[in-house]
Amino acid sequence: MSTCLFCEIAAGRITADIIHQDADFVAFRDISPKAPSHVLVVPRRHIGGLNELVGPDRGAADGLLGAGVVAAHAEGLAPGGYRFVINCGQDGGQAVGHLHLHVLGGRPLAWPPG
Ligand code: 5GP
Ligand code: ZN
Repeated sequence: MSTCLFCEIAAGRITADIIHQDADFVAFRDISPKAPSHVLVVPRRHIGGLNELVGPDRGAADGLLGAGVVAAHAEGLAPGGYRFVINCGQDGGQAVGHLHLHVLGGRPLAWPPG
């Protein structure tokens, strides 16, 4: 059985710079930050990505967004603003197959994204 990087981080078996966690979500710094503040928020439970948020898991992203707001406050991003990104699949640029929310901020962010 292959291991999942973000399951391992959430379980504490792989080290990450964790900024906040609760019973359901873990927020940690991206190893390759794309902005002065770049935090990833993941559910502890393995969910592969947005495409799995159907049926009973349809509401699973609600808590993820809330945990992202907590992370944004913890990073001091709330006054200036920030961006949430969830990449999905190959065209969406998803590299890690465990649902994760990018919280980006600390500088003006260009729009539209590439
Ligand atoms: P994705 O492209 O799947 O939306 O985002 C995956 C993110 O995970 C990337 O921004 C990448 O820098 C980050 N990442 C990959 N491996 C690690 C790691 O081992 N630790 C941490 N903290 N971040 C990682
Ligand atoms: Zn996982």
